[in-house]
Amino acid sequence: MIVNYNDLKDKNILVTGASRGIGLEIAKALAAQGAHVVFNYREGKEDVAKEIENELRARGASNVTGLLFDLNNEEQMKESTSNFAKEFGPISGLVNNAGVSKDSLLLRLKRSDVDSIIDTNLKGTMMLTSILSRQFLKAQDVSVVNISSVVGLMGNTSQASYAASKAGLLGFTKSVAKELGSRKIRCNAVCPGFIATDMTDALEEKAKESYLANIPVGEFGEASDVANLVCFLLSGASKYITGEVVKIDGGLYI
Ligand code: NAP
Repeated sequence: MIVNYNDLKDKNILVTGASRGIGLEIAKALAAQGAHVVFNYREGKEDVAKEIENELRARGASNVTGLLFDLNNEEQMKESTSNFAKEFGPISGLVNNAGVSKDSLLLRLKRSDVDSIIDTNLKGTMMLTSILSRQFLKAQDVSVVNISSVVGLMGNTSQASYAASKAGLLGFTKSVAKELGSRKIRCNAVCPGFIATDMTDALEEKAKESYLANIPVGEFGEASDVANLVCFLLSGASKYITGEVVKIDGGLYI
């Protein structure tokens, strides 16, 4: 079911990690709402960016802009977002969706893996939000949505780094909500459970079966389920909700 949020029309909304999975579905849903959808792509992925742009235009986006940046490259983030604002005005919606995961038992934890997970999922998200906060102060009805995970709430075997990065996002979300609430800038976190994407496809069959056995509604989620929730949190329909953590997991973590 698609709900129409009129206030998302023409709004400049940046979705990170929109090349596939949940991020792409969020970008498509925002295109259908008529937003100006902004997404990032990394060096060497210009062809993928062009395809995404065409797809989002076809789905009804009022405009589409691809920005070249990696979450681990602050200079790129500053330059591309500031060039965007000069041309189109401030970004007033941000979906911090991009993320990575690499499972490892605590016994075998490698510093390089911990660094890459925390750097991308937590530090990258924090720095991008900080860089954009200047634009937020010049915009109206700003909403930031951070894509965390139920694993950040409940922990998980072999996912210590990932869980720590996602739990960190929850503290970050609440801090941003407190710090910027008086400027009518909202910030919420979404905690998906098991959503069928490339990230979860990579899990072993046994792990998938064990997740399924623990999901009361008896099925994995779809990326579009998360996209519907994100559209609600970006829109004025959720104007009195901030600093909130919303699970979307079919009951996996009750
Ligand atoms: P995915 O299919 O693996 O896609 C990850 C996206 O993040 C890609 O677009 C990727 O871009 C981008 N990305 C990764 N590192 C980046 C970096 N350093 N700079 C910029 N972009 C980067 O992931 P997904 O399953 O859709 O998950 C999306 C988000 O939901 C993640 O934060 C994940 O932790 C969270 N989540 C997912 C699930 C699930 O069940 N799938 C559950 C809970 C939470 P490239 O194409 O350039 O690599």
